[in-house]
Amino acid sequence: MATASSDIVRLYLRVHNRDETVEWPKASTTEEIKSVLLTAADVPSTLTKDVVLKLTQQNGCLVSIGPKLTSNTPHTRYTLQVVSEKLKSGAEDSVNPDELVNTVAKLKGQIDSVSQVAKLAHPHKGPNAMVRRAPNIDPRYADRAKYVFTEETKEYLKQCSFDNWQWEENEALALLELMFDDMGLIEEFKIDVATLKRFLRGIKDNYNANPFHNFKHCFCVTQMMYGIIHTTEIVHKLKPIDKLVLLISCIGHDLDHPGYNNAYQINAKTDLAIIYNDTSPLENHHAAVLFTLLRAPETNILSNVPDAVFREIRKGTIRCILATDMAKHGEIMTAFKKHVDNFNIEDQDQRNLLVQMIIKCADISNEVRPTEVAEPWVDCLLEEFFAQSDREKAEGLPTAPFMDREKVTKAGAQVGFIGFVMIPLYELTAKVLPNMEAAIIQPIRQSLTYYKEMLEKTEGKK
Ligand SMILES: [Zn+2]
Repeated sequence: MATASSDIVRLYLRVHNRDETVEWPKASTTEEIKSVLLTAADVPSTLTKDVVLKLTQQNGCLVSIGPKLTSNTPHTRYTLQVVSEKLKSGAEDSVNPDELVNTVAKLKGQIDSVSQVAKLAHPHKGPNAMVRRAPNIDPRYADRAKYVFTEETKEYLKQCSFDNWQWEENEALALLELMFDDMGLIEEFKIDVATLKRFLRGIKDNYNANPFHNFKHCFCVTQMMYGIIHTTEIVHKLKPIDKLVLLISCIGHDLDHPGYNNAYQINAKTDLAIIYNDTSPLENHHAAVLFTLLRAPETNILSNVPDAVFREIRKGTIRCILATDMAKHGEIMTAFKKHVDNFNIEDQDQRNLLVQMIIKCADISNEVRPTEVAEPWVDCLLEEFFAQSDREKAEGLPTAPFMDREKVTKAGAQVGFIGFVMIPLYELTAKVLPNMEAAIIQPIRQSLTYYKEMLEKTEGKK
């Protein structure tokens, strides 16, 4: 019987070096079509959300995967590629299995709550990914892995030229702990040291292995904030609560970043975009994951502060993390500009704005570091951007030119970003904070020259 072949779409594919034929009803949704293609590409169901499919015609043209896809023939066979596997399985997890046996039962409540928040960013992540979120609460931990840093290292940590690549993750955790200690915050806020270690471990475990937005970026931003407040000596004028807010905001500011920016979240209508109504979905999520950790008794470093102080810390921290959304850049610059000529550090609102400016500076600060430290970060960022635009093309979503591997050059991107975003931000901050020119702004200008020369060379070749 002649079944209505016009009601089905039949696609001839080349996938993993073999020929496949797949079919689906014409009325299928994008999701349904993708699931057929994922099956053809042998992608396990636990990983389907973490891969990007790319369908190309024989002439290399990208075919958008969606209801408009029509049948082809064996002679016009498409190639199906799995172009990106963003999230690896839990195999590389750093949590020691022995410790997990002891801690999973104890921490059940916490694992559930953290993983529920984490699931917003990764709704289809497998169970391994959730276990990854168990912080280490081995009671021996407090006595173990003790790092003693020399005075030289402690001073080096306060400099904006600090080389992040020299330090292992565990050392970075110990350096973060040192910042709490060195600024007197452990004493001031009666922070339990074992809880602080678990908190920092929980932080590290809740950063994803993205090319750019990973735990190393978290460390760099925090260290740069620390470097800025020491270089400018503003550390002596900020209140303890401002310092605590800055420190935990920097540490938590990109928690559980999925590697795709707000534009992607909104255009792809992800769970995060829906939950936060397209308003800074990522930054809202980072803050929510941070406060999920801070709610769990095992990792709550604020358990000894009075309620009123907690509320103030929470408010300040949310304000700081939301300030890292570049969509708010102009608004914050304009608000700060109003006060620069007459800045009053004793005024709470003005201090709040300054703290927002400091975290914003720290978040985009790579070019303050020496070129050999800063330059690898550009490649990391472009890798993450390119993966996003590949995915957007594959999913038929709009792409931003600055993320498109066809349109962006490293030098071009850097010249624009440093010249139009970074330098104005730092120069405005320098109207209030002293000592920025030599140690902070000069290196940025040198970096701009470096990339301008690179741009001239690449343009010269064309
Ligand atoms: Zn960041």
